[in-house]
Amino acid sequence: MAKLYDFIIVGAGPAGLTAGIYGARAGLKTLVLKDKNGSNLMRVPSVHNLLGFPNGLSGPDVIKLGEKHAKKYGAEIRVEEVLRCVDCDLMPSKKIKKEFKDAKIIVHTQLQDYGAKNLLIAAGMQIRSAGIENEFKLIGRGVAVCVACDGPMFKKKKVMVVGAGDLAASEAIELLAHTDKVMVNLNGARSKMSDRWKKLLKKNNIELISNKVAKVVGPKWVTSVEFMDGTKEKIDGLFLSMGTASAIDFAKSLGLEMEGQVLKVTREGRTNVESVWAAGDIIGPPRQIGKSMGDAVRATIDIIEKTRGGSYVDHRED
Ligand SMILES: Cc1cc2nc3c(=O)[nH]c(=O)nc-3n(C[C@H](O)[C@H](O)[C@H](O)COP(=O)(O)OP(=O)(O)OC[C@H]3O[C@@H](n4cnc5c(N)ncnc54)[C@H](O)[C@@H]3O)c2cc1C
Repeated sequence: MAKLYDFIIVGAGPAGLTAGIYGARAGLKTLVLKDKNGSNLMRVPSVHNLLGFPNGLSGPDVIKLGEKHAKKYGAEIRVEEVLRCVDCDLMPSKKIKKEFKDAKIIVHTQLQDYGAKNLLIAAGMQIRSAGIENEFKLIGRGVAVCVACDGPMFKKKKVMVVGAGDLAASEAIELLAHTDKVMVNLNGARSKMSDRWKKLLKKNNIELISNKVAKVVGPKWVTSVEFMDGTKEKIDGLFLSMGTASAIDFAKSLGLEMEGQVLKVTREGRTNVESVWAAGDIIGPPRQIGKSMGDAVRATIDIIEKTRGGSYVDHRED
């Protein structure tokens, strides 16, 4: 089995699969790797802001169709967790296996190694747990993580935003477009909000509490939360706004520059390491399908132009 690829993509979410479609259509030998957790969309019951689907479709269906589409043009998709990526320029040439002599990056998964001439990191950002019982089980049934995606479901409803940083404050302010019954719960943590966001919460009369939540109660739709001290509060919705896991592991193994919690890239998605691009949630907000796809298009066209020379033209007719 040949293990040297023109294009390796870490991640099979909207960014990774879009890159897979463009790369494979352009004739690049393309491999898409995903881990067992899969895309954030695997936990999303319905998506209503994706072009071409006016009646909405489920997150798992977005991924299923995306994988089918990428495979149609020859992209290989494998379930293998990437543990580490190494820049060949920083390795002693004797250590690089013969089969990888043209590789720029070596990708180590839990099963094997691959050589990549170009690497795109599209590994997304996992939602950070607030340690609340049922929090992930009730996603799509009153628990949400993104006001831009799900805010309209909470029109005139009573909503609790859980989180202690600026993300929680900004989500609460954004929710005001849908309901005025919004509170922010620091969930037992110390506030990390900047003065600007604290002032905005106050100005908009958003209640700030700090009572650690033990459980969010369903099962069909969120009805209340139970606090650690045994008290309860009736609510119709709960937003998890703890922030997202960082891209730090990839950054560490490849020496990639970060900007806060996300990978730093140019307009074309180039990182500071030659032959490594990044796209999607891992390069920052807004965390949306359309934006992730756009990032991937820009990065992959850059890769195709670098590989083929000249300006990008889609030569295929089917
Ligand atoms: C509850 C919820 C609802 C949402 N609703 C909407 C919505 O309605 N509309 C909208 O536009 N957006 C929505 N979003 C946001 C949307 O899901 C993300 O913006 C989008 O999935 C980001 O795409 P991505 O390709 O960057 O990452 P992801 O889709 O998260 O994919 C990441 C990929 O990387 C892989 N991966 C990660 N680490 C590794 C590793 N070490 N090795 C191998 N593979 C790895 C994963 O398996 C996965 O395939 C929602 C998100 C959530 C959580």
